[in-house]
Amino acid sequence: MYAAYFAAGADAIHTNSFGATRHDLVSAGRSDVRAINLGAALLAREVRPAGRWIIGDVSPPWRPDLDEATLIDGHAEQASFLMEGGVDALHLETQHAVREVVAGLAGLGQGAPGLPIWISFALSDAGLESVSGVPLAELVAAVGPDQPGRSVVLGLNCSLRPERMLEAFTLARALDPRFLLFQPITGDPDVGPTAFAAACHAAFEKGAHAVGGCCGTTPEHIRAIRPIRPGI
Ligand SMILES: [Zn+2]
Repeated sequence: MYAAYFAAGADAIHTNSFGATRHDLVSAGRSDVRAINLGAALLAREVRPAGRWIIGDVSPPWRPDLDEATLIDGHAEQASFLMEGGVDALHLETQHAVREVVAGLAGLGQGAPGLPIWISFALSDAGLESVSGVPLAELVAAVGPDQPGRSVVLGLNCSLRPERMLEAFTLARALDPRFLLFQPITGDPDVGPTAFAAACHAAFEKGAHAVGGCCGTTPEHIRAIRPIRPGI
C-alpha cells in the first residue's frame, strides 16, 4: 500500500500506526507496541524512493477515562518506536480535545526529541470548532507558540469534504499562519480525483504547503494532484 502511494507521486506517506499506542492496543487485546510501530516504519522505508518522506502517524486517544500521565507515556512510547524505525516527522492527527493535544505533544516531545511535529485538527461542519465542540482557537492555544528547538506545523484533517475544508482552512490561517497542512476526506459520498485535486490546488493558493487526503483517498486522488501542481 505504501508503494502504491509513492508510485502515485506522493512526496510523503503516513505509517499505518493509527491506534497503535499502548492504551489503544491493550483495548484491542494486543501488547506488541514496539513490533507494530517499528514494523510500520521499517516497511515504509523498504519501499521509499529517494527523497520522499515517511511521517509517523499518531491518532487521537478519545479516552477521557485515562489520566494525563498514561496518555503522555503512551504517546512517548509510540513516538520512540516510530523514531527508531526512521520516520522523518510525527503527525498528531485528527485532534479534537485540549487535554489530548497537551498530552500528545508532551509525549511526542519526550519520546522523540528533535523530530518535527505536525498536528492537525478534525473540525465539525458547524463552524470553526472540533468534532467534539472545542473552538479551534482553544486547540491552537493548547499547542502554544513555537519554542527554541520545537516548532510545529498545524493543519486540518479528516471530517470535512474538500470544499468545506477550504473555507475552514482560510479561517484557520487567519487565526495562525502555522496552518500549512490540508487533508480533507474524499469519501461519504465520494469526491472524485479531479474535484479533490482542484481543491488541493486552491488550498495551495490559500497558503497550504502540504496537501493530501484523509479517509477515502486512493492513489488515483494523489495522482490527480501532480498535473496541476508539478514539482510540489
Ligand atoms: Zn480521516
